[in-house]
Amino acid sequence: AASTFSGERRVLLAAPRGYCAGVDRAVVAVEKALERYGPPVYVRKEIVHNRHVVETLTEKGVVFVEETDEVPEGALLVFSAHGVSPAVKQSAEDRGLQTIDATCPLVTKVHREAVRFAKQDYEILLVGHDGHEEVEGTYGEAPENTTIVNGPWEVDQIEVKDPDRLVWLSQTTLSVDETMETVTRLKERFPNLQDPPSDDICYATSNRQAAIKKVAPDSDLVIVVGSANSSNSVRLKEVALEYGARRAERVDFAAQIDETWFQDAQTIGVTSGASVPDVLVGEVLRLLEDYGYGDVEEVVTAEEDIVFSLPKEIRKALQEVE
Ligand code: SF4
Repeated sequence: AASTFSGERRVLLAAPRGYCAGVDRAVVAVEKALERYGPPVYVRKEIVHNRHVVETLTEKGVVFVEETDEVPEGALLVFSAHGVSPAVKQSAEDRGLQTIDATCPLVTKVHREAVRFAKQDYEILLVGHDGHEEVEGTYGEAPENTTIVNGPWEVDQIEVKDPDRLVWLSQTTLSVDETMETVTRLKERFPNLQDPPSDDICYATSNRQAAIKKVAPDSDLVIVVGSANSSNSVRLKEVALEYGARRAERVDFAAQIDETWFQDAQTIGVTSGASVPDVLVGEVLRLLEDYGYGDVEEVVTAEEDIVFSLPKEIRKALQEVE
């Protein structure tokens, strides 16, 4: 029966998808550091949450570590795009490490907000996933003043010192809808809760979710390319299901696609998280073509032209060479 579908099979390719400006900057920073200093270049945690990126850089001589104390004294260490707490920066300094900070500027923005509100004696309700590196870093700016709120289900249990001196901030890669729900519930409990000065969920996260919302209702299957520890990739799969995709699957690589998913699938939506190089999406499209899904229509919901300049330490190092 599947063959009656051929000719009608198609792919809806969500745009924007894939690399954001913060990921691109972090990956290029590591590549430039390799060129400039040669291997080994140490990186604390995964530079971005993508298996392919981490494996490729490892082959080129990058050594990924969990903590600063695994790095030989005096060596070069890059902080990942997700950001680090002041305590981590201090421990790198104590070891005499040379550091390059590849924290995304949009994460740094949230850190600055946390510092500023804590100085003004606010209590911060940080909406985000406990244990995610970005949340650890932001939390670490003002641990005494910060409470992590994982989602709407935690709102009732939260205890605060002064309900009139409260602000909420968030992780950059959350579900836009779920965060709104969390904040609505928080405001029901704490009517004087203040909003952040500007959105903490970044442009890339919200644009990718908006694009898949457009694609999902028409899709029998949505394939999200992205790694399991990539927050924004995992959110894309959830959003696809919420917005009507019959089925949604996340894969790191085309090879993980299971042909049984194609059963009765006429339209397949494709997207990728902010840490995913487009070559991986290209491989998925090639595989889909082999199964008769060669008709690809791009569904564009926004144009992105944001570019961030490289971390200052690497810009300086490159200038010295010139
Ligand atoms: Fe920066 Fe957003 Fe990309 Fe994270 S997802 S690196 S916050 S632009």
